[in-house]
Amino acid sequence: MTTAHLPDDAEVPPPRVEEVSEGIFAYIQPNGGWGLNNAGFIVGREAVTAIDTCFTVKRSRAFAEAVRTAAGARPVQTLVNTHHHGDHTHGNFVFAPGATIIGHERCRQEAIATGLGTTAFWPQVDWGEIRLAPPFVTFAERLNVYADDLRVELIYVGPAHTTNDIVAWVPERKLLFAGDVIFNGGTPFVVMGSLAGSLAALETLRGLGAERIVPGHGPVCAPAVIDDVAAYLRFVRDVAGKGFAAGAGPLELALETDLGRFGEWLDRERLVANLHRAYSELRGEPQGTALPLAGVMPDMVAYNGGQMPRCLA
Ligand SMILES: [Zn+2]
Repeated sequence: MTTAHLPDDAEVPPPRVEEVSEGIFAYIQPNGGWGLNNAGFIVGREAVTAIDTCFTVKRSRAFAEAVRTAAGARPVQTLVNTHHHGDHTHGNFVFAPGATIIGHERCRQEAIATGLGTTAFWPQVDWGEIRLAPPFVTFAERLNVYADDLRVELIYVGPAHTTNDIVAWVPERKLLFAGDVIFNGGTPFVVMGSLAGSLAALETLRGLGAERIVPGHGPVCAPAVIDDVAAYLRFVRDVAGKGFAAGAGPLELALETDLGRFGEWLDRERLVANLHRAYSELRGEPQGTALPLAGVMPDMVAYNGGQMPRCLA
């Protein structure tokens, strides 16, 4: 495989703030690749409700500064984590101890179990002094959070991208913060969650009737993105089914797979990791069975011709 689709050495553009509904903002970090996630916030009369933080201290402080620019002196009172991954949670401490940090029960557990482990994959990144601040208010299925009178429904849809994915649905605005259940322009990544579960989660999202979606990575989008992500995952499922029957390993199968239009998406090496998850499910293992990233990263590196996937955070 070539590295033609990896970002070059050029600096990625700076993050941008987009008002996606009155008083509701998406914080978009180009180019949406590894570690360059989106966050969001809702500005209330006296306080702010934030959704996710960033991977590095510098990026998380820039997010906090963007919140201050839009919200003035209003404090972040509520902080929701869509899942445990470090690009969405490392910066929680920037809003502590003032903010009530909310997530799925397994988000808390996995954030604690992972610690700062992800940083070891990308030693060249300027992480800063990250202090872990996992969610300390947790739930299992649903929780409503109010930003003044505006109801934000937190809905568990996992296992999907991870074991602990929640989405933040604002029904009054038909606006959805989808976390990493939706990548827009980037390759979906289900090795830490479930392929079948992701397809089910996408149907749940479709049923909400969102008009706008803030994905976990990539630009704000229309609900048609749900079809794109589902098409990719069905493609992976079909490829895996044939490869599994033929006795091919995930890496061998990935290397001989023509991704077609999906090859234009960022971080296509995730294919081999996604095949590992598909194989787990074909073996009959329960959705969300642990497949540590350290075990599949070497195959992604091999798929990339020996190069570690780039993290430009
Ligand atoms: Zn993630």
